[in-house]
Amino acid sequence: MQEKGTISIHTENIFPIIKKFLYSDHEIFLRELVSNATDAVQKIKRLAALGQYNGALGELKVKVAFDADKKTITISDNGIGMTAEEIKKYINQIAFSGATEFMEKFKESKDANEIIGKFGLGFYSAFMVADQVEIQTLSYQEGAEPARWICDGSTEFEITEGNRTERGTEIILHVNQESEEFLDKFRLESILNKYCKFLPIPIQFGTKTEQEPDGEDADGKPKYKSVEVENIINDTNPIWTKAPTELKDEDYLNFYKELYPFSEDPLFWIHLNVDYPFNLTGVLYFPKVKNDFELQRNKIKLFSRQVFITDEVKDIVPEFLMLLHGVIDSPDIPLNVSRSFLQADSNVKKINTYITKKVADKLSELFKKDRKSYEEKWSDIGLFVKYGMLSDDKFYEKAKDFVLLQNTKKEYYTLEEYKEKTQGNQTDKDGKIVYLYTNDAARQDAFIQSANKKGYDVLLMDSPIDKHFIGHLEQKLDKIALKRVDADVIDKLINKEDAVAHVLTEEETNKVKDIFNKAINKATMHVEVESLSPDDLPVTVTMDEYMRRMKDMAKMGGGMSFYGSLPDSYKVAVNGNHKLIARILKTEDEAVQAQLAKQSFDLALLSQGLLTGADLTEFVNRSVSLI
Ligand code: ADP
Repeated sequence: MQEKGTISIHTENIFPIIKKFLYSDHEIFLRELVSNATDAVQKIKRLAALGQYNGALGELKVKVAFDADKKTITISDNGIGMTAEEIKKYINQIAFSGATEFMEKFKESKDANEIIGKFGLGFYSAFMVADQVEIQTLSYQEGAEPARWICDGSTEFEITEGNRTERGTEIILHVNQESEEFLDKFRLESILNKYCKFLPIPIQFGTKTEQEPDGEDADGKPKYKSVEVENIINDTNPIWTKAPTELKDEDYLNFYKELYPFSEDPLFWIHLNVDYPFNLTGVLYFPKVKNDFELQRNKIKLFSRQVFITDEVKDIVPEFLMLLHGVIDSPDIPLNVSRSFLQADSNVKKINTYITKKVADKLSELFKKDRKSYEEKWSDIGLFVKYGMLSDDKFYEKAKDFVLLQNTKKEYYTLEEYKEKTQGNQTDKDGKIVYLYTNDAARQDAFIQSANKKGYDVLLMDSPIDKHFIGHLEQKLDKIALKRVDADVIDKLINKEDAVAHVLTEEETNKVKDIFNKAINKATMHVEVESLSPDDLPVTVTMDEYMRRMKDMAKMGGGMSFYGSLPDSYKVAVNGNHKLIARILKTEDEAVQAQLAKQSFDLALLSQGLLTGADLTEFVNRSVSLI
C-alpha cells in the first residue's frame, strides 16, 4: 500500500504559522505527544476492562527517548494504535471549524495552549520542533496492518505500510536545527518533570543505575551490584486522585515536600473532591505566610486529568486564595480560551464559589474543634482570613464567626466575644462602643497604659492589612467605632457624660495655652487645655483619627490628595488638672515657665518616638542642664 495526499486544512500552509506563533511555548510539544500516548494506553486498558479487547495487555507504559546523533526524539506507547484509516481520519483532517476563524485566532493569540486545544492541534505541535514527523503504528484490532505516516511539515504527507510488530504507536520527531536544545537529557527530563510528573501511566525516560543486593562477601557482609533499571519519571497515583480516607497526614506532608522542596511544613490542608455539577479534585495547603504575600503567589498548580497545564490560576481561584499552595485538577476548566472568557465561564464561577466555601468550612471546623491550636496558627492565617473578608462578602459572612481579634495582652476574641467584653465600659455617651487599637504597641505604650488604667482594652492591629480591615469592620459592625489609642486623650476617645471637672478658671486656661504655644512655637502643633484625670499624663500629643485615616488613604493613592498635601497636624492636649500645670502657673519666672512647658511637651513626643534630630539633641542638653 502506498498513498500520498494533502492534509485537509483548507488553507495553504499551516506549519510555518504554528512555528511562528507558538514560539515561546515550544516545549509543550512533549506534553502533547506524551498525553496522546497516555490516552492511547488508557483506552486499551478500558477496552480490556470492558471485555472488548482480549489480547495480552503487557506492561502498559509510555517511553520517551532521544538520539543526539540521529537528531530524533521518539515517543512510543503500547496503547490502542491506529489503522491507516484512523490516521487519515484523526491526523490528516485537522478538526477545526473553518480556515478563516482559525487564521483570525492565530493573529490575535500568542498563547499556544489556546490554539492547540481549541483546534485539536495537539499532535501538530510536533512541527514546532521537527522538520519531519513519522508515525509507526499498529492498531489493537484483530488483523490490523502496521501503518507508517510521514510528513515533512508541508501539507503533503505519505502513508505506507509500517514496520511495527507490537500493538501501539511510535512518534519519531526529526528535530529541526533551531530546536536542537531539546536533544538533551536534562532539558527533556525537566520538561517531563514539569508537565508529566503525575500522569496516570508510567512514563519511562531512559535508564538509571541502582544498587541491588548481591549475596554476601567473605566476611558475611551484604554485597551490592549496580544494575540498569528503567527510569520512570512519574507518580501515577498522586494523592489528589485518592480518597481522603486512604491518606494519612504524613502523605499530605510528603506530597507538599515533593511540590515545594524548600518550604516549611504547611499549617493544614483541604482535600477537594467534587464530581457534580463539575469535576474537580485537588489538595490545597495553607502555607506559613507571614507578611510577604507577594512572594507566595502562583503556587497552585493546575492540572487537567493529571497533565500539568499552568501555575497561573488567577481566574480560577479567588484572588484572596492565591496565597494557598497545592494542586487543582479539573477537566471542566476550559484551558484553551482567553482570560475574559474564563472569568465569565459558569463552571469557573462555580469552582470559585466551591473553593471559597470549602476553605471557610475548613477554618470553621478548625476553630470549633481546637480553639487553642487555631489561636496558635492565627498569626499565619489571620492575614489571609482578613484579606478574604475584605474581598469577598460571602466569605465575610462565614468568617465573621471565626475571625479573631487580638489585644495587647495577647488574648484572642471573636467579634461577638469582643463586643460582649467591651460593651458597657467602653460605650460612649452616644451609645457607640469604642474599640481602641494600636498599630505600634511599643510607641503608643503611654496611651495604652492610660487606656488600661481606665479598664479599657486595646486591640493589636499591626499587620499591613489591618489598616483596611479596621475600616471594613466599622462599616460592617453596627454602633461600633474603632479609634487608634493615640488619636486623642483617652477621655475624648471614649467620651462619657461624667467628664472630669475643670480645676482651672478660664483665665488660667488661656494663660496655660499661651505659655505652651510660645514654648512650642510650631504651626503644626495645636495646643488645647483639657480636663483630664490628675493621674493622666500632663501633656499628650495626638493626631485625629479621621485626619490620619485620610492621610493614610492619600498615601496609598486613594484619591484623597487634598489630605495628602496637608502637613501633619497634631493636637497637644495639656492636662489642666495635672499638678505640673498648677506648678507652671505658679512659677513667676517666664523663662522657667517656658522651659517646663517645653520639657513636658518634649517628654510627650519622646514617649511616642516623635522626638528626633535637632529637637532630640536640644532636649537632651536641656535635661542635662536641669539635672
Ligand atoms: P486531540 O488529542 O486533541 O484529539 P491530537 O491532534 O493530539 O488531538 O490527536 C488527534 C487524534 O489522533 C487523537 O484524538 C487520537 O485519536 C489520535 N492519536 C494521536 N496520538 C495517538 C497515539 N499515540 N495513539 C493512538 N492514537 C493517537
